Amino acid sequence: MKKLKNKNRKRLSTQTLVETGMSEVREANLLRVEADDCAVILELSGQGKPVASVERCEGFTLVHFDLPEGPLGEYRISAQQPCIDIQRSWVGKFHAWEGLELTSIALNFSFETSANHSLPVVCNYTRAGENRGVVGLLNHVPPTKVNQRVVMDSPPMHLLQTQFTRSLKTGGFRETVVIGRCKGHFADAIRRFMTFCREKQGIEALPTPEWAREPVWCSWYSHLYLLTQPDVEAQIPHLKKLGIRTIVIDASWFQLKNTDTGATWESGDYRMNETFFPDFRGLARRVHAEGMRIMLWCAPLFVGEHAKKRKLLAPYCTWDGTTRTIILCPFCEESKAHARELAERMMRDYDLDGLKLDFMDQLNTPCVDPAHDHGDGNHGAAMIEFMRALRDAILGVKPDAAIEYRISYSNLTTLPFANCHRGNDAPYDADYMRRENSYLRLFCEYPSAVWSDYAYWHAQEKPENISLMLGGQIFSGGVPTLSIDFTKCTDKERQLVARWMKFYRLHRDTLAKAELTVHSADSVLSVTSLQNAAQGEAFVLLAGQHIPETIALKPKIRRAWILNASAQKAGHVTLTAGKASTRIQLAGSGLVAVAW
Ligand SMILES: [Zn+2]
Repeated sequence: MKKLKNKNRKRLSTQTLVETGMSEVREANLLRVEADDCAVILELSGQGKPVASVERCEGFTLVHFDLPEGPLGEYRISAQQPCIDIQRSWVGKFHAWEGLELTSIALNFSFETSANHSLPVVCNYTRAGENRGVVGLLNHVPPTKVNQRVVMDSPPMHLLQTQFTRSLKTGGFRETVVIGRCKGHFADAIRRFMTFCREKQGIEALPTPEWAREPVWCSWYSHLYLLTQPDVEAQIPHLKKLGIRTIVIDASWFQLKNTDTGATWESGDYRMNETFFPDFRGLARRVHAEGMRIMLWCAPLFVGEHAKKRKLLAPYCTWDGTTRTIILCPFCEESKAHARELAERMMRDYDLDGLKLDFMDQLNTPCVDPAHDHGDGNHGAAMIEFMRALRDAILGVKPDAAIEYRISYSNLTTLPFANCHRGNDAPYDADYMRRENSYLRLFCEYPSAVWSDYAYWHAQEKPENISLMLGGQIFSGGVPTLSIDFTKCTDKERQLVARWMKFYRLHRDTLAKAELTVHSADSVLSVTSLQNAAQGEAFVLLAGQHIPETIALKPKIRRAWILNASAQKAGHVTLTAGKASTRIQLAGSGLVAVAW
């Protein structure tokens, strides 16, 4: 294939526009561009003439397609590369909700993305973890179907195709494919891709207030729907003693009864149930007097069938032609007005320090209500305005508020709309928490914060596992968060928690500004480190099958903490940093400090 020279915005002389006779693309216009050992193909369902150009920028190849003005419809962009020395794929879909986590994948898979759902990017790499090409779209906002497969149109098979499908009503804009074929570790290529896209699109993260980097307690796993004001009050002395500074009251506070159905059926009104919380403002006052913070759960897109506001807001919920859902259509001004009013009222009336915003990753059944103005059909762009309305209302009441999002709608596009980005629900599962934190830290850097999913353990869990769960949260770059009923814990458990919270608070600032490096070649990021070169400190996390022989750190690192959460209890690891190196003996699970 013809390799393009490193010139900015070179108009391609090799571009061709052809009509194909193949059945699946009979009506389509194809525009094919060859760049960086990849063929990039645009397929349009309309008849206009697109224009392509290629740009080299900061080690990335950008293939631009200027889509023709006028009606557009569905279009596909495919990047095809020779399937050589590729054994694994990393995908911009992080969460395992309703399916398996995509960590190690057959060479044919699909997932969907939007501004509020995952990321349109795939990275293929070798069994040694070397990047073989990160391929993604620059603009992450519109709904996108991502598919990767081996091209099987005719033998012999030799191409791996990463395809992005979008559908918008009108053209007249530019779509850009970003290809990163740099040598090095795949995680480094992904992090560079994220930084490049963020800077290129001028995405500015909402800074996290310093208080939101303090350890967090959430009521979810410990109390589920059975939570009262006295329950929360009973936690306060323990939290204070343990150094946990933020309280999140989860999805129970507004329901009429303590059940698991209310969170869906009664969502929308979000008025305090005074049977469970007779004096919430008094509770907030007490929490604040202790130097602590308090937040409430809310799913602002939901308007349940039993909500008083249902009748008023049902016309603005999505409608698929037969069924009216409980999910607001973000295209409607009334939906945004509701979100704005809701966030402002909750923050003000309950004297809150922030909101945990849940279930924002709705991809939406295609809403076909003719009464709604769906504009150009860009649901992602509509969601951005919905998220903006929430953020502005929250910060309007308290400028240093925390806004918690969760993985999948915690992505590159939403960094300006939330400042605390949490992994997906993982009760009991310390390894999942660790992986999700690492995924998030690939793009969620200071001044954003990553909040771990809430640590929870069975009353008879081994102390070693509790310790590794808490250490794993911290060493994978998350703010430690817990959902344990401290009134029912043993002294031993409280001591373990206190020790880890002390460790975290001591290293909080270094950790917050550290950069994640993935050292392992596997798909589950089993060996990582957080390195803060300015402070000369590294936090190394071993969570795979074995203790690795060598880990290379940045030259300026002079001190390291190693947390051995691997299956191998004893062994040796050599840390290198520039010319310095040190061999360390590990005996048992847990923490070892090293300096050189
Ligand atoms: Zn609609």
